[in-house]
Amino acid sequence: MHQKLPKEIDPIRLAQNGLKYDGQILLSDMPRLAKSLHSDSGLVEVLLAFDIDEIGTPYVKGEFTVPVSIVCERCMLPMTISLSANCLLAMVVSEKLIDKLAEQYDPWLLESSEPVLLSKVVEDELILALPLVPRHTDACLPSDAWSTISDDSDYNKEQEDDKPESPFAILSSLKKQ
Ligand SMILES: [Zn+2]
Repeated sequence: MHQKLPKEIDPIRLAQNGLKYDGQILLSDMPRLAKSLHSDSGLVEVLLAFDIDEIGTPYVKGEFTVPVSIVCERCMLPMTISLSANCLLAMVVSEKLIDKLAEQYDPWLLESSEPVLLSKVVEDELILALPLVPRHTDACLPSDAWSTISDDSDYNKEQEDDKPESPFAILSSLKKQ
């Protein structure tokens, strides 16, 4: 049932046909997302399952994953993170219908019957999944460098080289003597 990804889709028709897709989209096809990234090279893995629920709402369940290079806001160096988004979107043809949607859905407003660019839908979801403040998970800068970055750097260096031993280490060395 898995098929190649079309560039443009008619989401309601796909839902009526219960189609599933498994494919890839170039990151470089997502310029708005790429603006937040260090590089636009990469492939987004895309899983889509279109269907209609028991009360007749057309929906799509999507899973999008891509390794992206993004600049850490602490050390300003690029790092690679896995960006992923899961979504459950119900298609609505009018804003008035949004309030009536079951709670598990996010609305996907289709204002015309024109075909929709699939990469744009995936891009929107990935933009929402971007970390607010991208940072390495480990301490990529010493913590005191962050708070005292404008202080005399020689002073900071001296502090770091001359770390006082913990009281426990001192105690245990005393016991050994
Ligand atoms: Zn960093």
